[in-house]
Amino acid sequence: MSDLDALTSSAYSQALEVIASVEPRIAEATRQELVDQRGSLKLIASENYASPAVLLTMGTWFSDKYAEGTVGHRFYAGCQNVDTVESIAAEHARELFGAEYAYVQPHSGIDANLTAFWAILAHRVEGPWLEKAEKKNVNDLTDEDWESLRRELGNQRLLGMSLDTGGHLTHGFRPNISGKMFHQQQYGTDPVTGLIDYDALAAKAREFKPLILVAGYSAYPRRVNFAKMREIADSVGATLMVDMAHFAGLVAGKVFTGDEDPIPHAHVVTTTTHKSLRGPRGGMVLATKEYAPSVDRGCPMVLGGPLSHVMAAKAVALAEARQESFRGYAQDVADNAKSLAEGFLTRGANLVTGGTDNHLVLLDVTSFGLTGRQAESALLDAGVVTNRNSIPNDPNGAWYTSGIRLGTPALTTRGFGRDEFDKTAELIVEVLSNTTPGTTKAGGPSKASYTLADGVADRVRSASAEMLDKHPLYPGLELS
Ligand code: PLP
Repeated sequence: MSDLDALTSSAYSQALEVIASVEPRIAEATRQELVDQRGSLKLIASENYASPAVLLTMGTWFSDKYAEGTVGHRFYAGCQNVDTVESIAAEHARELFGAEYAYVQPHSGIDANLTAFWAILAHRVEGPWLEKAEKKNVNDLTDEDWESLRRELGNQRLLGMSLDTGGHLTHGFRPNISGKMFHQQQYGTDPVTGLIDYDALAAKAREFKPLILVAGYSAYPRRVNFAKMREIADSVGATLMVDMAHFAGLVAGKVFTGDEDPIPHAHVVTTTTHKSLRGPRGGMVLATKEYAPSVDRGCPMVLGGPLSHVMAAKAVALAEARQESFRGYAQDVADNAKSLAEGFLTRGANLVTGGTDNHLVLLDVTSFGLTGRQAESALLDAGVVTNRNSIPNDPNGAWYTSGIRLGTPALTTRGFGRDEFDKTAELIVEVLSNTTPGTTKAGGPSKASYTLADGVADRVRSASAEMLDKHPLYPGLELS
């Protein structure tokens, strides 16, 4: 065991003892979570394993500090150390992504998107409105002015990717706040290829004339041409906002470059920090200088006080992502996804778009006669952790679904390579081929119940254990 491993083991063991002295059940659940994560095939595309340095950074007294405002301009006293942390995190983000401006306060991806929406509205709508009304700021408004501005802000248009073709809830899905605060329309994918049809998207944009065009996805297994997206946005005077929450690690690791790198093309880019980027749970907004002053007002206009302990952990994770080794990791994530996809295709399974060229694979489970819900549950019985996901025009809706989304970032962090991902595809096909849908009490086909044939879960668990043992999670970490 290295000195650093010994220190990490001792730090966690002692921390758990301290926690147990107050609430032993929490200490126990924390220990058990490590056991469970170590012992399962984690294929959830939005999850990863942050380093012990990132995790440890979150458990400090920075958690206790309020720091509303921005660096050097806080609504609370005593923020000098938070200023240090926030400046370093923002500097790493700017350098890593080549962005003009970085805002590291958002607490999550959704918060980052809300911050971006309001920043774009402030820049594109509120600012010009105030100028036209010859008012310096909103404090000068009469009640009538205020009502008129609110109507203007509330009547803007947003065009984003639909949920069932891979977009996120916050990209204009009607029941989500984004679908209520904007007049929304959604673009999808080509019904035959499953790919974004840029000509159809351009035509829709011309007709709808959105203020904001949102690009980015949660479950689209392909790369996006952001140069084309910007052309479309420019042709209708829209702001291009890219949500790279899922693939930020592939941008950071220079797997996505040129037209596939959103930073040079978008006005505003949002992200999470905990998915392929492998940092703490959180969000970030990157923007051009033009949009920076509006984004900077995120807290306290949209967000509550920043989580200083998480901003510190973002700084550590971003420093890790700037190391040369992260590029190798990001390339492995993409290569492993190809291997996983090939593993399915050679065993006769169907994939949405017929493959992948990013970090995720969307498996259509209808050919196994299953819903996504049944497939997800049967796989979990066998120690394979995935999430069910809609496929385009999903016949089973957003709750039961017809797909399983699988991602490679987490197991790649553990050291899984091409062969292991091929084996993983084999094990998944074995589980799904041996799962039969159940029936409802009334005797009809059930979308939830299922039977997994005897012995399959044990067989798959032991085959997985062989691979997991070769690539232990936090190898040097031993809890006493
Ligand atoms: N944006 C995209 C594209 C996502 O996939 C997700 C989460 O899955 C989010 C935003 C929201 O992130 P969070 O859960 O951190 O709010």
